[in-house]
Amino acid sequence: MAGLLAGCAKPPQSQESLLGTAAIDTTTTSAFQPVATFRTSRQPMPGLPSMTLAGRTLTVGATEDIVLNPGEVILTFDDGPRAGSTPLILDTLDRFGVKATFLMLGSSAERNPGLVLDVAERGHTIGTHTYDHVDLSTLGPTEAVAEIYAGQQAVAAALAPSNRVPSRFFRFPYLAQTGVIRTSAVDSSFIVLDVDIDSKDYYSETPQQVLDRTLARLDARGSGIILFHDIHLRTAAMLPDFLSTLRENGYSVVTLRANSGVFDTPLVTAEAPLDEPGTL
Ligand SMILES: [Zn+2]
Repeated sequence: MAGLLAGCAKPPQSQESLLGTAAIDTTTTSAFQPVATFRTSRQPMPGLPSMTLAGRTLTVGATEDIVLNPGEVILTFDDGPRAGSTPLILDTLDRFGVKATFLMLGSSAERNPGLVLDVAERGHTIGTHTYDHVDLSTLGPTEAVAEIYAGQQAVAAALAPSNRVPSRFFRFPYLAQTGVIRTSAVDSSFIVLDVDIDSKDYYSETPQQVLDRTLARLDARGSGIILFHDIHLRTAAMLPDFLSTLRENGYSVVTLRANSGVFDTPLVTAEAPLDEPGTL
């Protein structure tokens, strides 16, 4: 039963989307545009590096390109979007001026298309996580890739009104995979997003317990891709303290983007209106 596997919660209902806005790269040029600044109002005050949690933008074309320096983290949120918890998390991320990657379920995206668009509008990267949280390790490669595509297409459909497309990032539900299926996913243009630090926020614990465990694991490792789930209110509750602590301890949150790739399905090959960052 999928519910017994480690790594993820059950499919919730919510949506999110991808993509980053062009705001990130306009920061450096805004100084030359005294009138029409393009900066997003959600970013923290500039000019105070020591207080800035937002780190560099890392754009990759393959899993192995995701190489972090000491002190760098990538925030990822799986299974959403979901009404209630996802908006809270989005507000916190805005407050701290950092971007995350949301690995959405197709079923969640269908239930919450407005939230998918909201995640995209706020400049986060959107990847996928199958349609309904299937344990792909129980399937053959053909069936598994079909499940991955089904999720990707549902998220793409939710994003369609914004003329954006999901990124190529994909995370295995329950982190359950086989070598053959992983290779099949990569051959299908997906970029498998692994996990270095599992917050285990799907346990029925207090926000403080999730916070303490995640910080301890991060401090022990020094950097990494952190797995959260935006379907849990406990995660939304602990996130402000988590990000505050990261900032106090000198960590930086890397914005992860994928090179635009071409999926061989009509929905995803739709042309995005934005350049590289916008295709999340
Ligand atoms: Zn999951």
